[in-house]
Amino acid sequence: MTELSNAEIAAVLDRYGVMLQLAGESPFRARAYARAAESVRDSAEPVAALHRRGRLRTLPGVGGGLAAAIAELVTTGEYELLAELEAIVPSSLIELLSVPGIGLKTAIRLFQELGITNLEALETALADRKIEQTKGLGKRTATTMWLGLESVRRRTGRLRLGTARPIALALLEQVRTVVPEAQVSLAGSVRRWEETVADIDLVVASPPGDRALDGVSLLPTVATILERGPERARFRLQHGVEVDVFWSPPERFGTTLLAATGTPRHLQLLGDHTSGAATEDELYNRLGLPWIPPELRHGTDEVRRAAEITELITVSDINGEFHCHTTWSDGTATVAEMATAAAARGYTFLGISDHSQGLGVANGLSPERLAAERAEIDAVNAQGGIRLLKGAEVEVHSDGRLDYDDDVLSRLDIAIASLHVGLRQPRAQLTGRLLDVFANPNVDIVAHPSGRLIEQRDGGDFDWSRVFAAAAAAGTALEINADPARLDLSARHAARALAAGCLITINCDAHAPNGFAAIDFGVAIARQAWAKPEQILNCWSLDRIDAWLDERGSGRGP
Ligand SMILES: [Zn+2]
Ligand SMILES: [Zn+2]
Repeated sequence: MTELSNAEIAAVLDRYGVMLQLAGESPFRARAYARAAESVRDSAEPVAALHRRGRLRTLPGVGGGLAAAIAELVTTGEYELLAELEAIVPSSLIELLSVPGIGLKTAIRLFQELGITNLEALETALADRKIEQTKGLGKRTATTMWLGLESVRRRTGRLRLGTARPIALALLEQVRTVVPEAQVSLAGSVRRWEETVADIDLVVASPPGDRALDGVSLLPTVATILERGPERARFRLQHGVEVDVFWSPPERFGTTLLAATGTPRHLQLLGDHTSGAATEDELYNRLGLPWIPPELRHGTDEVRRAAEITELITVSDINGEFHCHTTWSDGTATVAEMATAAAARGYTFLGISDHSQGLGVANGLSPERLAAERAEIDAVNAQGGIRLLKGAEVEVHSDGRLDYDDDVLSRLDIAIASLHVGLRQPRAQLTGRLLDVFANPNVDIVAHPSGRLIEQRDGGDFDWSRVFAAAAAAGTALEINADPARLDLSARHAARALAAGCLITINCDAHAPNGFAAIDFGVAIARQAWAKPEQILNCWSLDRIDAWLDERGSGRGP
């Protein structure tokens, strides 16, 4: 039997505590198990080792009874009392507690009064309207449960890249401080700029006997050591994120980094990639290839298209953006402050595109307020420096109507259309709304086309082939929204759009000056779609953009 890790022991103790409560036992006993689980999880030393040394009771909150429980777990891998309890109370009830809006009391009621023991049964009861007809639950509770159930279904348990990447970069810095002589790199899905990641991977190269992994394991941000071998360690950070750290001797750093970055399909495509090399460069060169950037390592056509890699867009090709918000709608900075932040990034232009009136929650602009904002933009432009384009993010209503009439639209330098509502409409209707937008020459860009929020809300069910064909024919640009919660278009959709001949724009949709930092995410998505600067509106010169806008027929307003 492999030894149980602290995380596994803690999980059993936690589970027993919850089961006790579901069985209607005293909350005090349940809490004692939860507290012990926490001590086990926080213990820097493997609890199995503590047990062998007879020191389990040094763990905070672990008395005689709990020490015996842990000892039983460590020696047999099981906990008899939990098995007994699960014979009485169905353990699948725990699933119900993962639904937002279902607490312990409700879960017990669902079980005792309606016999509901799992998510499937809950869904059936909701569909049969049993929940709304149960006294004390009612229609509103039923709606909450529907939404909660839906959000559980959407979860994959993965982290958004926008959450994981800053944590990974901070960790990288800390590792560099404790093992300054080591070479350190991100690896895995964070390094490949995947939109969601399961965990963080790092590679550390240092001479044998250097004990770099020990140094990493002592970092205060490391909450738990989950596994520890001579060349690999797995930690859980305080945030709950798990990290794999791979150790390598310096002369094999490139080989280890390549393997730890993946993907398996990319490695397969490379053929034999296991010979020792100090850098990835060296390894790729041995295979007769240029270095392939991690975001392209998908095991598809990156080897065949390797010669094109140097032509792909990079962050330095971005000359400006078209989509951001100010205090005129739901942004937190003024027009001038956003202009300053964009200029500090070296941008030569910035489109100011506050929300239109229809999006009431975002303090959208009436045509009158829009005119007042245009006057403020003129004033900032008069000071010289970065050129601000007078734009708007115009709501596409559920019935396909645009929130501003053509008269208002034609007075904008640039008009962006967005669907924020009615995203669950059937495919034909939803697609039709976008096709109508493309038919209006006053609209220059469609923002975040699918409307998805990663790990939160699926995008709309569009007929993408028709959407991309129509956008290409109309010359309307489609956005890659760089906000890591959106990344919309996705890399897959962006690749299809480019193949259909669409023009693409990348925008942070910044609502504050620091929002522009997201451009890295948008460019990574564009690179995954093999986009070249020519295909991305943001990389054009201002003159060319002006000519494009004039040609589109949208009047350039007085
Ligand atoms: Zn929007
Ligand atoms: Zn926006």
